[in-house]
Amino acid sequence: MELPVADPGPVRAEGLLLQCSYCDSEAMHKLAQLLLPGLAAVCVDSTTGDLFKKPSVVAVDLRKEMVDYFTQRSETFISDSLIESEVNQDQENEMPEDPFEIISIFMDDFSSTKRNIIGHVSWWLMSDSRDDKIDDFVQEMEMTRFWPLERREAIAEVLLKNVDLKTKYHCPEKYENEEHLADHKAQCNFRPITCPNEGCRAKVSVRCMQDHDSACPFKIITCEQSCEKRLMRCDMDRHCVTVCPMRPMKCPFGCDSSFPECNLEQHCSEFLQSHLFKILKVIHKKGFTDDGLKDHALQLEKYDNDGKLAKSWDVRSLTNAVKNLEAKMKDDGSS
Ligand SMILES: [Zn+2]
Ligand SMILES: [Zn+2]
Ligand SMILES: [Zn+2]
Ligand SMILES: [Zn+2]
Repeated sequence: MELPVADPGPVRAEGLLLQCSYCDSEAMHKLAQLLLPGLAAVCVDSTTGDLFKKPSVVAVDLRKEMVDYFTQRSETFISDSLIESEVNQDQENEMPEDPFEIISIFMDDFSSTKRNIIGHVSWWLMSDSRDDKIDDFVQEMEMTRFWPLERREAIAEVLLKNVDLKTKYHCPEKYENEEHLADHKAQCNFRPITCPNEGCRAKVSVRCMQDHDSACPFKIITCEQSCEKRLMRCDMDRHCVTVCPMRPMKCPFGCDSSFPECNLEQHCSEFLQSHLFKILKVIHKKGFTDDGLKDHALQLEKYDNDGKLAKSWDVRSLTNAVKNLEAKMKDDGSS
């Protein structure tokens, strides 16, 4: 007797599965960053040498055209690359797999159709003034928020999912129903979470969090010059060159050594004799031999009951302290 076979139920076609929508936040961000200089280059190349057209005049239209072009090409990318690999058996013309390279190819193809006569000339494409103009226009668009990052990221997300055939940068998981999908999304490695560092509003994929954290400008870290202070990474550079007690300084009296600023006091008392010698040499240009100056320096230090010399940490105050002491010595000697 045959055993009854369990009814497998309706099998869903691949297309009906619900796919997890999360993608890699850093890749999306990187792609979004590429779009702005890409657009700037197209706008500059299509208007260069034209007295009546500036890049900003064509930017609105070209942005729309560029987004349409990229979207359309990314949508047909899978079928296009299949056809291409069948036609070209040689490996040379193969499309790259890296989404950033793919989008760069779209960008090149699009921009080459938009260049005007001058924009095509090779010396122009290689020139520094082209780079400068592109940089300037990128800055202008950033200042005016012409194409804000959030909007570019939304486009980048679509492009990324379309061309990321190997699902390196977006989640490949698919589920039969909403419930399973929701269970997965709560655990998905691509799910975005808000950076826990205070002040940071970045939303980062779980799997990118470590990288983000190690570069997050709001992360509190200990001073790079190893003073005791803990501060935000974005404040580090300024701290290290302005107020950090460990910032390196040169001896104000011209010794060869350099030391952390907090050691100035120690250095000045350790090297008082040699500093004094340098100062005395300037004050008494003539009339003293080197040995004579050294003796004089020792005398001054002995005479300095208040320790004023060791507390003078720059040329000017040490010079004054020496002059006052010498005057006092003279008074005491004559009285
Ligand atoms: Zn997922
Ligand atoms: Zn952060
Ligand atoms: Zn410090
Ligand atoms: Zn010194």
